Amino acid sequence: MRKGISNRYAHILAREIIRQKGIQVSQPWSAEGLCADIALTRGRRIDIISIDVPGFPTGAVISDADCDVIGYRAGLTGFYRDHVILHELCHLLCGHGVPLRKDERLVDAVANHSYTFAEEHLAEAFATTVLTEAHHRTVPTADRHVSALFGV
Ligand SMILES: [Zn+2]
Repeated sequence: MRKGISNRYAHILAREIIRQKGIQVSQPWSAEGLCADIALTRGRRIDIISIDVPGFPTGAVISDADCDVIGYRAGLTGFYRDHVILHELCHLLCGHGVPLRKDERLVDAVANHSYTFAEEHLAEAFATTVLTEAHHRTVPTADRHVSALFGV
């Protein structure tokens, strides 16, 4: 059995990370904007790139001496793309990122790294929490009321 954390605890931890890191969901919502804000706070560049390489997973965060790179699989768009970026951002903020060793291929670095179930669960909860916040700030009040009524 894989060691994990409860869904409730994952969301509590995600909210704590958001609070501790001072993460603000800006308007208009942009995953790039959020990462840029966090990069300013950290004093370290975060690049977001689309990666079209066979064997590359849905997303990954790779760190080298100069910057952190959040890569997402080419072709992802909209909500799903943002979710992947935020998931990887959580790994980065929590220190779960993949270090890229000298002369190591990116695909190999990603393939040779694995996360624990708890780390994955937390990253999912973080992405969901931030996107929920972004959605609630973006959707006009009337639409939010309709959304609450119908659960969409
Ligand atoms: Zn992950």
